[in-house]
Amino acid sequence: MDTKNLKFTSKLIHGGGYKSKLGEVNVPIYQSSTFEFESAEEGARCFNGESNGYIYTRLGNPTINVLERTVADLEKGFGGIATSSGMGAVSTIYMALLSKGDHMISSDAVYGPSRGLMEDHFSRFGVESTYVDTSNLEEIKKAIKPNTKVLYIETPANPTISITDLKACSEIAKKHNLLLVVDNTFSSPYLQRPIEFGADVVFHSITKFINGHADVVGGIIVVKEEALYKKIRSMMISMGCNMDPHQAYLVIRGLKTLSLRVERAQENAMKIANWLEKHTKVEWIKYPGLKSHPQHEIAKKQMDGFGSMISFGLKGGLEAGRVMMNNVKLAILAVSLGGVETLIEHPASMTHSKVSAEDKKKAGISDGLVRLAVGIEDVEDIIADLEQALSKVKLWIKDWKIED
Ligand SMILES: *Cc1c(COP(=O)(O)O)cnc(C)c1O
Repeated sequence: MDTKNLKFTSKLIHGGGYKSKLGEVNVPIYQSSTFEFESAEEGARCFNGESNGYIYTRLGNPTINVLERTVADLEKGFGGIATSSGMGAVSTIYMALLSKGDHMISSDAVYGPSRGLMEDHFSRFGVESTYVDTSNLEEIKKAIKPNTKVLYIETPANPTISITDLKACSEIAKKHNLLLVVDNTFSSPYLQRPIEFGADVVFHSITKFINGHADVVGGIIVVKEEALYKKIRSMMISMGCNMDPHQAYLVIRGLKTLSLRVERAQENAMKIANWLEKHTKVEWIKYPGLKSHPQHEIAKKQMDGFGSMISFGLKGGLEAGRVMMNNVKLAILAVSLGGVETLIEHPASMTHSKVSAEDKKKAGISDGLVRLAVGIEDVEDIIADLEQALSKVKLWIKDWKIED
């Protein structure tokens, strides 16, 4: 069946155009490392590209390809490349697009390991990088050098939830001949499709919203055009960052409910954000759906919804955050996001602990920042849990207890 003209949720269910062999409703797990050729001639055709028959699972596999075609279609790209993890996608992209002497500009509030991989390791091979607040376009323009090749954006960014204008970035990238790469993990293709705004490469940690059930680690890259797709795919194959068929099967299963999960989680997040914004123990909150978010208007322009990631700071900073996190009962103290369950974490001591104090400060990752990944539970239960945990936070001014 041609799924090209279906709407988003129908594509989730029927995507990838898999033709059943025995009438099976689900895509089978082709758990085979290698594939038999009908003849020596057919084997040769597979290798020289005249036939698209399967050869070996690192190069391609029917189960994995269904997932790749589905996500590529959702993201409006030419093709998808599934990877062993989100970081497998990041390393494949860096490796394929950057050479010795090249320079990359990236968001300063970016997934910690994406920055660590570049600064600690790609620097060893002579790749330079600059981290700026990409929500400020002037900072991007100022950072462009003659050897800049890639503009790498994460929006909404981790963990500050700041938003970068995708269309404006794509215009800057075109003008200076840069490739625009977007980490779309926090939005999922349901809420944001960066290729529509001019991105060349989009990727996801599939571990998060796309799979959605906290039981798989994986990644996927979607590329707008064929030539670049082939270049990145061949790098993934050479580096051996491929996904496993069983992983792909679980992700195809999780992906079917993406729109339902995201709708429910963001409905919950909006209610929780409104409640937190008024809470006496909350010093500040950042959620793209709130008018107080500095890039609320850009979020409205480029996202189909505001998602379910909230960051906030408590009066009482680090210690207050510690007390809150040690007292939640329903929300789970864990890193990651995008699953059906509500997770809470403290970036300064957890996901971003390797980022230097100075860089954390520059990127707006304060010691008191708490990151909440809202799940799909009943919102009353989530709020009741956060309220009882917040009630354990005692606020003091000098020697006077001011609040319970
Ligand atoms: C989790 C995450 C990654 C890395 O993905 P893994 O699947 O953990 O390797 C990259 N970017 C963002 C925004 C993430 O949240």
